[in-house]
This record gives sequence, C-alpha cells and structure tokens, in this order.
Amino acid sequence: MTTQPDFLVLGSGIAALRAALALASRGSVCVLTKGEPDQGSTGWAQGGIAVAMGDDDSPRLHLEDTLAAGDGLCEPDAVRALVGEGPRYVSELLAWGARFDRDAQGRPAPTREAAHSVRRVLHADDATGREISRVLHEQVAALPAITIIDHAIVTELLCEGGVCVGAAYRDAQDRRHEVRARATLLATGGAGQVFAQTTNPTVTTGDGMAMAFEVGAEVADLEFVQFHPTVLDVPGRPRFLLSEALRGEGARLLNVAGEAFMGRYESAAELAPRDRVARAIVRERQRTGGPISLSMAHLRDLDVHARFPQISEACREAGLDLARDPVPVSPAVHYVMGGVVTDLDGRTSLPGLYAAGEVACTGVHGANRLASNSLLEGLVFGARAGAVMGEPPRVRDGWGPGRLVACAPAVPGPAVEAPADLDVATVRLRAWRDLGLVRTPEGLQAADAWFTQARAACVASTAGDLASAQLRSLVTVAYLMSRAALRREESRGGHYRTDFPERHDDTWGHHCSDVLQRTAE
Ligand SMILES: Cc1cc2nc3c(=O)[nH]c(=O)nc-3n(C[C@H](O)[C@H](O)[C@H](O)COP(=O)(O)OP(=O)(O)OC[C@H]3O[C@@H](n4cnc5c(N)ncnc54)[C@H](O)[C@@H]3O)c2cc1C
Repeated sequence: MTTQPDFLVLGSGIAALRAALALASRGSVCVLTKGEPDQGSTGWAQGGIAVAMGDDDSPRLHLEDTLAAGDGLCEPDAVRALVGEGPRYVSELLAWGARFDRDAQGRPAPTREAAHSVRRVLHADDATGREISRVLHEQVAALPAITIIDHAIVTELLCEGGVCVGAAYRDAQDRRHEVRARATLLATGGAGQVFAQTTNPTVTTGDGMAMAFEVGAEVADLEFVQFHPTVLDVPGRPRFLLSEALRGEGARLLNVAGEAFMGRYESAAELAPRDRVARAIVRERQRTGGPISLSMAHLRDLDVHARFPQISEACREAGLDLARDPVPVSPAVHYVMGGVVTDLDGRTSLPGLYAAGEVACTGVHGANRLASNSLLEGLVFGARAGAVMGEPPRVRDGWGPGRLVACAPAVPGPAVEAPADLDVATVRLRAWRDLGLVRTPEGLQAADAWFTQARAACVASTAGDLASAQLRSLVTVAYLMSRAALRREESRGGHYRTDFPERHDDTWGHHCSDVLQRTAE
C-alpha cells in the first residue's frame, strides 16, 4: 500500500518529534517508528539536557566546553547554533510543561556533569528523557496533522532521479508498504546495538546510517564511538547506565583495593571527559587485575536515593544499595559521533533527504560528545530541519574548505561467499572485540577484512525479510566503522589506536567521509 503525506519523518525520538511539530503547520506529517513510539534512546536518557541558562553560564562558555571535549574536530558553526539556540528550545519545553527539578526559588536547578565548567544540565530526577518524551508526545497528540504509525520498520529509502521521495517499511505482519513525500527526515537514532556491550535500547541498530549510505548519501566520522565509562557490571543483569551525573554529584571510582585511582590518570579525576575516564578504568583493571566500582558512600549530604531514584532501583534489583555499596562498573558503547553528513538545517548530500539527532553528523560533537549535549542536539537540529523541509530540495551546504576528505569505498565484487559465522551475535561480538575502546592494528585489520566480506555477502543476498534487513544494517555500519578506524592513523576522542596513540592535527585534523561508489547506471 502507498500513502502520500506532505512530509515523512522516520523515528519518534526527540529529533523526530521536534521536527514533526515544526512541520505540522505546513502540511500532513507521517511518522514511522520501529517499535513502540517511546522505545528509542530519548526515553532512556537519564542525566539531563545541557543548556546555558544559568546566571553563571553563557553560550560562549558552553561553546568552549563543547569544543574542548570534541578534541579538535567540532564544527564551530554547528556548535554555535547548538549552544546559541538551545536556551530558546529548552524554554519552549518548559513552557509546554516539562517538569525539571527546581531550586527553592522555583527556577530550574541544573546539575554538573563531566567536562562542563559550570552546572548547566537540567534534569527530571534521573529520568530526563522520559519527561521530555512525555511532553513532546503530548504536543504531537494535539496536532491532527501528525500521524504516528508504530511497529513500522523502515528498510529502504526510495529515490527517483537522484532525489529521495520517501521510504518503504514492513509492518508487524512483515507486509511491505511505501510512503511517498515531498521531504523525508531520518531521525532513526544511533547504532549502539552494533556492539555486544551497549547502553542503547534494542531499536538502535544504525538502520538510518546504513540506508542513507546505500542510496548514496555521505556518511562521516564513524570511527568516533563514545564508550560510557560506568555501566552496571553484574553478571546476569542488563548493562544499565550509571549516569555521569553520579560523578557530577561526587561519586568516586575505586579499584579492587578500594582506592580512588582516577587522580593518577587525569587531573580532572572522575570529571575528565568520558573517553579518558573509560580508558583509565581499563588500564586500572589491567594493572590491578581486579574489578572497578563506583562509590557514593562518602557523600553524607546527598540523599542519593531521592536524587537518583531510577538508578537506585536498578541497583536494588541487582542486590546493591547505591548510597552505601561499591557498585561494579565497566565501560560500554553509548553514542556514535559520526553519521549522515548534514548542514546546519539537516540537509544531506541527497536532495529530499534530511537527517537530525544521533543518526546525523553535523560535526557538533567532533571526536567526542560533551555529556548531555545530544538531547539538545536532537531538539535544536530537529527544529531546524523541520523549518526548511518545505523548501525546494537541494543538497547540503559544505563544511568549509579543507575540512572534509571524501573516500569512496569499493562496490563489492561479484559472488562473495558469506563468512561461515555471519549472524547478528557474531557481528556484535566482533565489533566489541575489534572496534572497541582500545583498537589494535591486528584487530582493525581483522575487522576490516571480515566486515568487508560480510557486507559484500549481504549486498549480494536477495533475501527481503526483516531479519536479513536487520543483519544488513548492523554489518553495513560495522563495515563503515572499521574502514574509518583503520584509515585514521592517530588517536583522538572516541578513537584510540595502540599503534598511533597520539593526536596528529597536521595530517588528521579533519573529518573523513564515505560515499558509495556507483557503478555505471
Ligand atoms: C541509557 C542512555 C542514557 C542517555 N542519557 C543521556 C542524557 O542524559 N543526556 C543526553 O543528552 N543524552 C543522553 N543519551 C543519548 C540520547 O538519549 C540520544 O542521543 C538521543 O535521545 C537520540 O535522539 P534521537 O531522536 O536521535 O534518536 P532516538 O531517541 O534513539 O530515536 C530513534 C527512533 O528511530 C526509530 N527507528 C530506528 N530505526 C528505525 C527503522 N528502521 N524504522 C523506523 N523507525 C526506526 C526508533 O524506534 C526510535 O523511535 C542517553 C542515551 C542512552 C542510551
């Protein structure tokens, strides 16, 4: 069946819903979403949303912190848009009824997170994403122009004459449908599920990145993967995120002997950027041969359970008291900095196709995202994309001269046999082992060879079922990540190589992108 709204939005997280709200006054909007409408990362976000609204803060300070965390690779114009327009869009959320924690005077009470120079993270207890999601869904429900179709898994972007004209999806009965629209927004979130250990929900399988690449849109910066340093590590329990805000409130990381060790690795100790804290944890674990834990037992003035009810509950279910017990932690994949390249209004390199939120790469996070900047990114760039999607389609504006190197991957050769062990579990284990926190030359070579072969097999396959589509997304993203990680011969932000442990601005101070090399059409 084919439907024809004016605008098509893929996903129902913060970027998708904010864009849909911007589009609703200009035509009909169809929102397609994979599972339940609140199933993406947005609803899982804990710590909060970073925004320069405090008396001691300014967009200028927020810009400086974001650029510092980005390790030399942020696009300053994108960061300026993020931090400059953030207060306006967060104020709008407050006006729509977002219930963020407030101080005694009734003003929003920001918390502190790592690598922020002031307290600027607004939050609703430790379930900020759930609250933002509630508010956005309430706004969307009030607008008859917006229709949400859930359990609709988009498997393909439709292109005609080099223009994106919509998407095809499978419903819960695995039937194929098409939606054709004047403009299509990818807001399908990240790709944490490519890795065996992740904080991300099951829907984040990188579908948007893979589908965009398959139809010729440019993707970039996929070597930069953020590992969250502190994820609950109790055998048999889910890898539940232990928010950065815990360390912002004073939690300490302890080694097996009960010693606080972060000061030996980083001058900012527990408040150093995520990638540095995560690697320090791995090093300390190797040095001592024992587990690492997070402790709040010394924080006498904080009501830990009241401040972190959701995290306290997850710990309690694992038999631990967050306020008293050392909680075992280890790093896990949390966020992908790269994605589909866009300009500041969400335009991709394919006319008619827009992208916003975690699936996109505006360059706003550089090589490493500053904590709590991603909800803000979805809000600001979702709204910006929604504002221009009614205009005649055109390709994105550039990132400035000399900033981008485009490398075209070879189209797979004829009749490639699939690796014998090709399945979802193996893809995820290999990505975790070879594209993880510490990358070795042997691991990267192995990943590149295996994922290249796996991708060629997926492309050659004629299977059209959902399971094959899912495998293909995971393989395509892992393939792009391994190419990118092998290509970048330096270490920076979320990309760390044992054979090139230093940052090299002269040779690598730019983004690298991939575009599908087309055979003669
Ligand atoms: C546990 C956790 C805690 C976090 N805490 C914070 C925090 O405190 N602050 C912060 O700023 N960030 C946080 N983040 C990151 C942040 O939540 C995400 O980066 C952000 O919410 C992404 O928003 P999005 O709209 O781009 O995507 P999502 O919210 O992930 O939405 C993606 C949507 O696309 C849909 N989708 C995916 N594939 C398809 C398909 N093929 N067809 C149809 N629909 C599809 C999904 O179902 C979903 O609705 C956290 C992330 C996690 C996982």
